[in-house]
Amino acid sequence: MTEIFTGNFTQQEPIPEEGIQAAIEVMRSGRIHRYNVAEGEDGETALLEKEFADQLGVKYCLAVASGGYAMGAALRAMGVVPGARVLTNAFTLAPVPGAIASVGAVPVFVGVTEDLVIDLDDLAAKADQADVLMLSHMRGHLCDMDRLMTICEANNLRVIEDCAHTMGASWRGKPSGLWGDMACYSTQTYKHVNSGEGGLLVSNDPELMARATILSGSYMLYGRHLAAPEPEVFEKVKYHTPNVSGRMDHLRASILRPQLRNLEAQCEAWNLRYRTVDEGIAETPGLTRINRPEEEFYVGSSIQFLLLDWDEAKIHEVIARCGKRGVELKWFGGKEPVAFTSRYDSWRYAPSEPMPKSDRVLKGVIDMRIPLTFTVEDCALIARIIKAEVSAVFQGA
Ligand SMILES: *Cc1c(COP(=O)(O)O)cnc(C)c1O
Repeated sequence: MTEIFTGNFTQQEPIPEEGIQAAIEVMRSGRIHRYNVAEGEDGETALLEKEFADQLGVKYCLAVASGGYAMGAALRAMGVVPGARVLTNAFTLAPVPGAIASVGAVPVFVGVTEDLVIDLDDLAAKADQADVLMLSHMRGHLCDMDRLMTICEANNLRVIEDCAHTMGASWRGKPSGLWGDMACYSTQTYKHVNSGEGGLLVSNDPELMARATILSGSYMLYGRHLAAPEPEVFEKVKYHTPNVSGRMDHLRASILRPQLRNLEAQCEAWNLRYRTVDEGIAETPGLTRINRPEEEFYVGSSIQFLLLDWDEAKIHEVIARCGKRGVELKWFGGKEPVAFTSRYDSWRYAPSEPMPKSDRVLKGVIDMRIPLTFTVEDCALIARIIKAEVSAVFQGA
């Protein structure tokens, strides 16, 4: 009998009951704007910022409208001006080069290795071309952060981390998001906490965060924040920083707070499912699994593998055959951008030089989401289907 999987790859878990109740309270109060608070009330948004900062171990946190907004605000706060070049990963998602383009800057792409991390040799070679690196921990893969920081420090490169897929992850015990000068998180539905849309920006640098706070549209109400720099810091920047509104509201903050409290358990649940798929596809002919270094604590909310040097037609065949059996795979190598997937050379507003080594990797990247609505048994079944179909196509069956 041919096994079929019937789960839904875009079905996330419900919002925790506690979050639903908190959201109802916010709606009953009528006070949804973050600065609309009653006498003596902190407000859900400021509390979210304080709790996330404490949880991560960082001084400052600002909640904003999206992960992409957080990245744009970080670039503006750092003083990236129109025409400036900003280094970033060739393997990432469209909002990353998009955030760079949104401030009029020019993305310069750095290659990707077979481990799906930024190519540090390529970074070292290009490091003198920019003052800022927007480092995307794409699909949750952390590069050797020690070596990356050594390269960046030697070249006076400031680092913004894109932690859209690494909330909860760490390198050598130090959380992703604490390595660079600033870090950006997304709370969009498919990330590690879900408020539909939303973002969090963190840093230990008071001046950068004061600028980002004013940028986000704090009017002059920054005194109502609980994880913002001291008022003196704002005095230095408040007349020179434009308002580019992108605030978070109490409704989203209220549903995020209980999810953050539960983050560690969620990460464990993801990793159990990730390992089940990863071990299940071991020793599949023609399939390369992604090496995860010992120093990396990852959060397996999605999984990737490589079909290296495969013909395009055969890759399509694998995806079609798995699709028929209910397993939704995405291919990052296609010429045409499809849904969430696109290649660096499809972002034509940012001209790039060809990178043959990276192109070889990108051409073979297959990606699959692992929503927590899947059971471990579901994940074992998915792995059996992938293994069978990749083997069959590889062996020409
Ligand atoms: C989702 C995502 C973002 C930005 O998130 P939005 O909240 O959708 O703007 C940034 N980088 C990566 C890699 C992402 O997947």
